[in-house]
Amino acid sequence: MSEEVTIEVGLDDIDDAEALGRLVAHALGRRATDVPEWTVRRRSLDARRGSVKFRVVVAVGAGDTREPVGPPPKTVAGDRRVVVVGDGPAGLFCSYELARHGIPSVVVDRGRQVQPRRLDLRRLNQEGAVDVDSNYCFGEGGAGTYSDGKLYTRSHKRGDVRDVLEVLVEHGAPPDILIDARPHIGSNRLPKVVAALRERLESVGVDFSHLVIGHMSTIKQEDDPIGTHSAIARRGAFVGLDTVGHEMSRSHIPATEKVKMVQDLLDAGLEDHIVFSSDMGNRTHSKASYGNGFSTVLVQFVPKLLFAGVPERTIRKILVDNPRRFLAVEPKSS
Ligand SMILES: Cc1cc2nc3c(=O)[nH]c(=O)nc-3n(C[C@H](O)[C@H](O)[C@H](O)COP(=O)(O)OP(=O)(O)OC[C@H]3O[C@@H](n4cnc5c(N)ncnc54)[C@H](O)[C@@H]3O)c2cc1C
Repeated sequence: MSEEVTIEVGLDDIDDAEALGRLVAHALGRRATDVPEWTVRRRSLDARRGSVKFRVVVAVGAGDTREPVGPPPKTVAGDRRVVVVGDGPAGLFCSYELARHGIPSVVVDRGRQVQPRRLDLRRLNQEGAVDVDSNYCFGEGGAGTYSDGKLYTRSHKRGDVRDVLEVLVEHGAPPDILIDARPHIGSNRLPKVVAALRERLESVGVDFSHLVIGHMSTIKQEDDPIGTHSAIARRGAFVGLDTVGHEMSRSHIPATEKVKMVQDLLDAGLEDHIVFSSDMGNRTHSKASYGNGFSTVLVQFVPKLLFAGVPERTIRKILVDNPRRFLAVEPKSS
């Protein structure tokens, strides 16, 4: 095991490798020019006794590189898949751990992916409109995705925390979290880390496809709906245009724009990824209140698509074939 020394470093010098090297040499009783190889093991800020400085634990010696704690995920294989419900930290790391063992999993979440989820937060903050499925608590990344991502814990006895930190660094978190006593990822980076983790899992075969991302028809034109729709469809998931056929209250988008969303998806060759529904819920939507009832997609929206020139066979695919694929359950192999 290599020798460790602790040095005290001023705030201005903490990112200065030469200054750190000189302090390491001094701590070892050597001349400032006789600096051995060294690596920072741990770093904490010490504001006691009136002066603020870093306390840095340094490992001295060549070849002080640590092997990663855990293996990378493998390409998954096999007939039986684990269904992971919830794509928060627990769900993501659950499917990551399964992939390390080559075990396939399907990850489902009630909310939206981490980038479009921002649009729901913007609506929540600016208009007070709450999407019950996609908000600060629900959606890809889970509850703390838009916090600053503090990573310290006192539960060190439950497993190797470094493994989690290494996985986060591998997917875009700053390497400093491996040495900081009070590590955090940063609110600007955290959603990117979540997206990179999902992409890594997809690349080894973890399935995010039995997933409909809902409320995709409530994205305003200026927020680039087709950008979000095609990002979702490219990952194999379904784009849920699930507020079509009637007016929505605060999240109302005119029917012309919803028809355009369908046309844009068709132009992009993504017809296999569209599903419709009407988000029925208000009393005014019911037939008893002279609304269109459950037939609103067929009675209100489909005629508009036909009028806009969408072929009947395409509409059939969206209404019949796509939901059939989405809902299909593979028989278990015994
Ligand atoms: C504002 C805020 C800031 C935070 N900051 C930090 C921090 O800095 N550091 C820290 O360590 N912790 C922080 N936390 C706590 C941390 O976010 C949670 O401990 C962590 O998210 C729990 O992970 P989880 O995967 O168990 O659950 P969750 O993150 O809650 O994930 C559950 C997932 O399941 C989905 N889901 C729920 N119901 C269903 C359903 N019926 N079907 C399908 N999917 C469903 C949800 O959409 C969600 O994605 C913070 C929490 C909040 C709210």
